Amino acid sequence: MNGCNGRNKEIECKTPYFQTILEMFGPVLFNSMQFRKVTVKVKNMKKLHYSELGLLNTKDMFARAMTEKYAVPAYNFNNMEQIQAIITGCIRSASPVILQVSGSARTYIGATFLPHLVAGARAMVEEMGSPIPVALHLDHGNSLELAKDCIDSGFSSVMIDASHHSFEENTKLSRQVVEYAHAHDVTVEAELGVLAGIEDEVVAEKSSYTRPEEVERFLELTGVDSLAISIGTSHGAHKFKLKPGEEPPPLKFDILEEIERRVPGFPIVLHGASSVMIEHIEKINRFGGAMENTAGIPEEQLRRAAASAVCKVNIDSDGRLAMTAAIRQIFIEKPSEFDPRKYLGPARDELTEMIIHKNTSVLGSAGRY
Ligand SMILES: [Zn+2]
Repeated sequence: MNGCNGRNKEIECKTPYFQTILEMFGPVLFNSMQFRKVTVKVKNMKKLHYSELGLLNTKDMFARAMTEKYAVPAYNFNNMEQIQAIITGCIRSASPVILQVSGSARTYIGATFLPHLVAGARAMVEEMGSPIPVALHLDHGNSLELAKDCIDSGFSSVMIDASHHSFEENTKLSRQVVEYAHAHDVTVEAELGVLAGIEDEVVAEKSSYTRPEEVERFLELTGVDSLAISIGTSHGAHKFKLKPGEEPPPLKFDILEEIERRVPGFPIVLHGASSVMIEHIEKINRFGGAMENTAGIPEEQLRRAAASAVCKVNIDSDGRLAMTAAIRQIFIEKPSEFDPRKYLGPARDELTEMIIHKNTSVLGSAGRY
């Protein structure tokens, strides 16, 4: 920020509701007062370890995915219908699952509310007598403070994304997060290389591929448990600018193979791995939407990646598109409908089907537990 006075501001508030309001409006308010960084904490927020929620970290999940050559799905959510669809889809397809939220999704749900939503999902797993492991992961954490806050409130895994900084800065921040996380038995994902595209608070115009020659040193210096790499995937629903009839460019499997050769058996993560399924785009546009020039990663390429050292595949946009398609259809076909259950219910069903499809036909994670 230009002209800031360089001071940090930490505000303590008494209720989670006030925290949500402050997180929404605080930055604007305090930025105008020129503080360098504003952290909002709930005064009486109880510390919660993820084991109390029946969650697991990603260590054993990845070890098994590596041996059996599949990828664990990491699905993003922002609300109750999404987490219900994800957990139902994964129970029904007997797949391990990583439930993940970005910092802004956590603010949207409410930091205090979130563990209760996840506890509900875990209770569903138990009630169904399902043995699937469930992790709660912070997607694109951007500071040590946010990572600590998540670790102290029920997260079993965190990502620290300092990939846009220099190698040295990235290494330093990732190491600091690892020290705190490992003391609480929480696993850490970091990133080398930059993905293009827009997703929540992550924005990058251009991608830069991961440099395999940096990987060993980064892992040695940081001690992270998994590494997100940039090999041609990107965030959002508009991954490539394609001319009619043109195919998306293939992923850089040569970079992935070189990384595998240098650090055999180390879990690799793919971000921005939605396929932007044509049936959802067509439905959205048929029912009054305007989604043009969309393109994603072909499923065939994701299948190939999932059978390699890629142990975690992040899917966000495809879930958003599935729900939007279902909701648009209801609004156009039944314009007098105003009961949220009548459109959020079908949206939840559409997402559940998509989750089962991904686990079964793309990631190979179905039927493993
Ligand atoms: Zn991402």
